[in-house]
Amino acid sequence: MNKHSCGLCNGELLSLPLPHQHRVMLSDGRCLDIPLEKTTCLQCGIAAHARPLTVASIRDVYGDDYALASASPLADAARARAYADALTRLVTPHRRILEIGCGSGALLRELHGRWLDASLTGLDPAVPESAGNGARIRYKRGFFEAFGEEKEEFDLIFSVNVIEHVADPGEFFARAAALLAPGGQMVFFCPTSEPPNLELLFHDHLHTFTPAALERLARAVGMTMQIQENRVEGLGDFQFISFVQSTRTVAQLSNVDPIKLAQQRTDYLLAWRNLEKILHARIGAVDRVALFGAGQMAALLRAYAPTLWERVDMLVMDNPGDAWSLDKPVRAYADVRDTLQDAVMVIATAPGAQGFVANRLVADGLKTVRFDDLISS
Ligand SMILES: [Zn+2]
Repeated sequence: MNKHSCGLCNGELLSLPLPHQHRVMLSDGRCLDIPLEKTTCLQCGIAAHARPLTVASIRDVYGDDYALASASPLADAARARAYADALTRLVTPHRRILEIGCGSGALLRELHGRWLDASLTGLDPAVPESAGNGARIRYKRGFFEAFGEEKEEFDLIFSVNVIEHVADPGEFFARAAALLAPGGQMVFFCPTSEPPNLELLFHDHLHTFTPAALERLARAVGMTMQIQENRVEGLGDFQFISFVQSTRTVAQLSNVDPIKLAQQRTDYLLAWRNLEKILHARIGAVDRVALFGAGQMAALLRAYAPTLWERVDMLVMDNPGDAWSLDKPVRAYADVRDTLQDAVMVIATAPGAQGFVANRLVADGLKTVRFDDLISS
């Protein structure tokens, strides 16, 4: 049954348009044959599924098939450095630190070398055996819901791109708050809500949080927002939020108008719905279509523009080692550039990079199609 009011603030919900009638994408690129039915709250601005997903169906997503963390070790290491840079800039060092959902463990290893007095604990259902424990670092396999029976306390609890996957954020906040030592701090990175961006298209992003929604969750467990940065330098469309144990409001909430956000989200998903048709028109009646890019944007086109995907005969990128596992051949641009004169190249990179990439291909004499005028984030 569809919900009619927000589970967080009881505000009125608006149904968002489907980007495709019967397809969704998971954040690792896999597709499911169901529609992406999300809602936006007109009061707190949270985006959520119209029909709450069951815990079992969510866990199915992160079984052996979930591929994101192991996609590319180089990308994983670069990501860990970028998040460590942000954390060390925004958070003062603490002694006992817990990362919820530590993935490969790369970020904790990075922090191990920067916060020399800290003892670090990483928790993840899929942390690899090779992560390795040390004197100040240990990894535990498991779900957060089952953690904390040893009555340990932590001075800093953080997670990176986890809370948007959590079915019950209120319970998650309560569990985290219960593990904090007096004076402790809770820190989250998650996708930014405004402007709407690619993450809204991910089926396994169960919520998109506005600062107001996060503040509401924190207040319910006796915490208050200390710092909020909407788009963290070096991280793209991701926000940083930190909470401390206090009932006094410390931070100035960034001003996201939930009514305007509902309109922006509606426009954004309609742009995705129309994208397939517009791309066919821009490509025209040619025999060969190739994509430049074999990562997240290519995967999104496979999911939400499937008839375009059928026309694509190869994916091209500079470093095929970074390609996602999609069902098309991947070629190095330097190897195939001279064979692409008769093809139309659809620039399947992040919108912000499409102009740069297209100029480069045009300079090599290739025909390009971009869509950053339709999808700008
Ligand atoms: Zn709400």
